[in-house]
Amino acid sequence: RHVFFLNSFLKVFLCPAARCQFVMSRLAVVCGGSRGIGRAVSRLLAERGCRLVVVSRNQEAAGATVASLHGADHMALSCDVSKEQEVQKTFQTIQKTCGNICYLVNAAGISRDALLLRAGPEDMLAVLHTNLLGSMLTCRAALRSMLHTQGAAIVNIGSVVGVKGNVGQCVYSASKAGLRGFTRSLAKEVSSRNVRVNLLCPGFIRTDMTAALQEDAVRSVPLGRFGEPEEVAQAVLFLLQSPYITGQELVVDGGLQLLM
Ligand code: NDP
Repeated sequence: RHVFFLNSFLKVFLCPAARCQFVMSRLAVVCGGSRGIGRAVSRLLAERGCRLVVVSRNQEAAGATVASLHGADHMALSCDVSKEQEVQKTFQTIQKTCGNICYLVNAAGISRDALLLRAGPEDMLAVLHTNLLGSMLTCRAALRSMLHTQGAAIVNIGSVVGVKGNVGQCVYSASKAGLRGFTRSLAKEVSSRNVRVNLLCPGFIRTDMTAALQEDAVRSVPLGRFGEPEEVAQAVLFLLQSPYITGQELVVDGGLQLLM
């Protein structure tokens, strides 16, 4: 019995990975955490005992989210995920101040909907740079520390239109389809290091992004309503905490995809 207790002591207090798992709470970075889906994810992860770093361009809005989180030791950082140098600096600050990242959620996103014939190159680049390049840059910057963390996992937020396409959303759906390929490839690249990468594809969710949509969009949803950000957050948590799921996509859309 003494040998058993000695072994447990050594595992928990001397092995760095075990010490991280049992003694410290998990560090989660949520990009786009100031509003909408990212804010709901931040709140749920904080309720489940994670330390949060909430990232968005607007520092004040990220700070307001942090102020509303359960528990202490959370942090708000301002960063435009489409700018490489800002991303590098932000993740260096996170590493220095908070340590190794366990969870990364990429919820920063924008839409500039227009028929392709009317879409300008500036809007096209803004959407691709934020939704696709932004997630690539944050994953690359976070991975360096995630490789040293037990149970590390990434969830990228895609969209049902990245799978099915939609009129007026050629560029937006291309950015989300790109994120699909990126997620699957990265999952293959880092699986041997025990980092999992999954994609979550929401349908219509009630946030600032969908505020301008007509209520008749609801009629296209089999469940007859828009989803709530908290309902997406539940699914993100499931993917983050499922140790045998990687390279997958989970659709949270009230059945919308069935009719597309
Ligand atoms: P919101 O507009 O409510 O929130 C977007 C978030 O992203 C904000 O926190 C915003 O903060 C942040 N953000 C935007 N651009 C940048 C940037 N360049 N750098 C850092 N942060 C940025 O959107 P949702 O919550 O609805 O969307 C979240 C994700 O879910 C997006 O990727 C979106 O494409 C996707 N999605 C949403 C759906 C919906 O129906 N709502 C459906 C399918 C997918 P700030 O402005 O301060 O930078």
